[in-house]
Amino acid sequence: MHYNKPTADDIEHFQSIVGKQYVSDNPAIRASYLAKSVMGLESQIADVIIRPRYTEEIRKILVWCNTRKIPVSPISGGLSGGFACPLIKPGGVQLDLSRMNRIIEVDEDNRYVVIEPGVTAGELWAYFEKYHPAFCPPIADGAPPTATVMGDAIDRGFSLVTSSMGPQGQIFMGGEVVVPQGDIIRLGSWALNGVKPFYKWGLGPELFSLFMGSQGAMGVFTKGVVKIFPHPAHKTIKAWAMSNPYDMQNLTLEAGKLEFGIAHNTVMVQGGNWPLIMTRWPKDKVPNDYSFYEKMGIAPWWMNWEIWAQSAEEQDFVEKTIDRLANEFKKNPKCKDPDAIKEWKLHPKQVASRLRKPNKIAIPYSYYEAGFLFITWYTPWTDSADFCVEYNKILKKYDFPEVMWVASIERCRQAICMPIVCFDSSKPEDFQRVQDMNRESTEYCLSRGWINYRPDPYIHAPEMYSRAGTYLKYLRKVKEMFDPNYIMHPGRLMLP
Ligand SMILES: Cc1cc2nc3c(=O)[nH]c(=O)nc-3n(C[C@H](O)[C@H](O)[C@H](O)COP(=O)(O)OP(=O)(O)OC[C@H]3O[C@@H](n4cnc5c(N)ncnc54)[C@H](O)[C@@H]3O)c2cc1C
Repeated sequence: MHYNKPTADDIEHFQSIVGKQYVSDNPAIRASYLAKSVMGLESQIADVIIRPRYTEEIRKILVWCNTRKIPVSPISGGLSGGFACPLIKPGGVQLDLSRMNRIIEVDEDNRYVVIEPGVTAGELWAYFEKYHPAFCPPIADGAPPTATVMGDAIDRGFSLVTSSMGPQGQIFMGGEVVVPQGDIIRLGSWALNGVKPFYKWGLGPELFSLFMGSQGAMGVFTKGVVKIFPHPAHKTIKAWAMSNPYDMQNLTLEAGKLEFGIAHNTVMVQGGNWPLIMTRWPKDKVPNDYSFYEKMGIAPWWMNWEIWAQSAEEQDFVEKTIDRLANEFKKNPKCKDPDAIKEWKLHPKQVASRLRKPNKIAIPYSYYEAGFLFITWYTPWTDSADFCVEYNKILKKYDFPEVMWVASIERCRQAICMPIVCFDSSKPEDFQRVQDMNRESTEYCLSRGWINYRPDPYIHAPEMYSRAGTYLKYLRKVKEMFDPNYIMHPGRLMLP
């Protein structure tokens, strides 16, 4: 595939569209966008950064780039995990959508908010606290407050209600997209002029999903419609400890299957293992063996349930049901280590800190060895323990700490399993180690039928699509329908 580098004429044209101050080919500015890509190992520097404000500006930029075959990669917050936001050669235009940060409409009865792509989790949360305090917007649970809700949905991320309501893409009701052909497409019931975005499935076959998981390779979202949820009056966190991931998986499933009255109230169900604690500090400042953490009362594995309820009685009922299930599970033949199953009584400060949103829980992993990478996978919930065991073996083989985080999606229908790969980003040889580990684990995970959350272009996508040729064939046709010259985020999803 041949692409053109933006010339001085192109840059002048971009300036005429968005204003001179919002186009930059300054090397320092361009490089500063690379620095944000903490998790993109092969990230490239863009040739030019453009910061549009209006949909029409984006349309004009895309039409121009389509004609001139200049690559365009959109970013909303530019913080996506894995390899998603970094550019691939050729860099081309980086469309920074952070100026498109308007909150357009809040409908409390139909329970949605219309946002532009640059609205960050922190901004949306603060806006709701001030103007619609009874409502909760579904921001990502662990992403930094500067990540965006739109970027999270495009990446099919997980929000603070995902364990109950499903992945972020499912919590969206529609949106507006500009494609390189020059069309502005409204999705969901919005496609019918003037209709409220009340129904995602819209006008027959639903196009919205073609853009979810697209990593910016289909078009540019200029608006998104996302459900909002009334805050219930009662919230708490319940935690149980165990010695192994199988007991974590199987006990959690017992609660997950009580869908109505229990599992719907557990909005975020997430667990992990003790290295999650250790790897949140610089490696040389904390002990690196479990005995230290054991003395502090940290379990080898645990599960947290964040419970939302309308009344104290309802909350109490959910808490007591989880306790009952845990105690019964100790006698279940599936239970591997009944003695280790104990309630982990959290200090009120721990509960308060977990309930505070947006939380900054995931940021400190970068302290451990300066580099970190989330390589996230979807598995059936009932495979999540196998995932933890097998992935940890591979992490250990490559001398990475065995850091594992797992959350339930849609009441234990699926699991989102996230090994956090901590490495020393100042050592070139560590990058090779990450890639070797990633390749081996990818081959293993795909052989088990597990699906990568945000396939990277070098290992995940080629490995995945080599096993799904017919799917890739039609994905290319969809891509060509919206983006015939393949200018959008080249290389993502192996397109081209
Ligand atoms: C410390 C840390 C913790 C994290 N924790 C979580 C978490 O708890 N839950 C979670 O789900 N994720 C998490 N992530 C991953 C990521 O930050 C989130 O998914 C985030 O919300 C992505 O939003 P963003 O605005 O940064 O996306 P971006 O990086 O801007 O974009 C994501 C992808 O979508 C494309 N894109 C962006 N905007 C547009 C647009 N308007 N139109 C078309 N394509 C577009 C981009 O090209 C990119 O491929 C975490 C990341 C970090 C660094």
